[in-house]
Amino acid sequence: MSGVVYLVGAGPGDPKLITVRGAEVLGLADVVVYDRLASPALLDLAPGAERIYAGKEPGRAAMRQEQIDALLVERGLAGDLVVRLKGGDPFVFGRGGEEALACARAGVPFEVVSGVSSAIAAPAAAGIPVTHRGVAQSFAVVTASTAHGDGVDLASVARSADTLVLLMAAGRLEGTCRSLIDAGRPEDEPAAIVQWATTPDQRHVVGTLADLPALALAASIGPPATLVVGNVVALAGELVQPDPATTSAVR
Ligand code: SAH
Repeated sequence: MSGVVYLVGAGPGDPKLITVRGAEVLGLADVVVYDRLASPALLDLAPGAERIYAGKEPGRAAMRQEQIDALLVERGLAGDLVVRLKGGDPFVFGRGGEEALACARAGVPFEVVSGVSSAIAAPAAAGIPVTHRGVAQSFAVVTASTAHGDGVDLASVARSADTLVLLMAAGRLEGTCRSLIDAGRPEDEPAAIVQWATTPDQRHVVGTLADLPALALAASIGPPATLVVGNVVALAGELVQPDPATTSAVR
């Protein structure tokens, strides 16, 4: 009998931000195939499961995408309950669609278990709502990466939404901010970069499109980090959230 592949979103970083459904299927897993950005603490929810690391580091691949696709199909066909644990949401820049296609084409039953995407959660953790009445009525999520030739037409995206959220932004902040200015976003538009959101290592820097790259460099902001651009960023100064480790009654 065929098994099932669950494509599970692990959430942005805090292991408590996985969904109830995600935690449930982890508890039933025979095998967990996990990524670098999926919180290691979540593996504790699958104590009996075999663990296979499929993470990619910038510039170095532990497993090629085709190998991951083949592994999911092979284990599914063998009858296993497979959890493919991916950072954030599996269908937001996570190649989850490719993994789902591989399962569909091989006749392996699969279920997508959506997750909390860093595209929304990273700005939120820094006190930045991606929409706000009277300030931003739309947001676009885009990759700042031009790796593998999938260059993004930043110019057209830049004009399309009030708030722009750019993933994979660390390491290419200067060029990204420059492209947005060249595309017509004002130099003095508020911009922020948030690193390791919802984890104890969370840090963010607020500036403008013109000065954020230098500020981020001075603060040694590196990956994983999310760039958010737009007038909503100005709310970050007011929407300061106390550190949950010290203040929350439930931790
Ligand atoms: N599927 C994921 C995104 C994968 S692409 C999701 O929905 O969140 C990886 C990018 O996500 C990183 O380069 C970074 O831009 C962003 N990211 C992931 N975790 C993050 C975190 N804890 N803080 C800030 N950005 C993060």
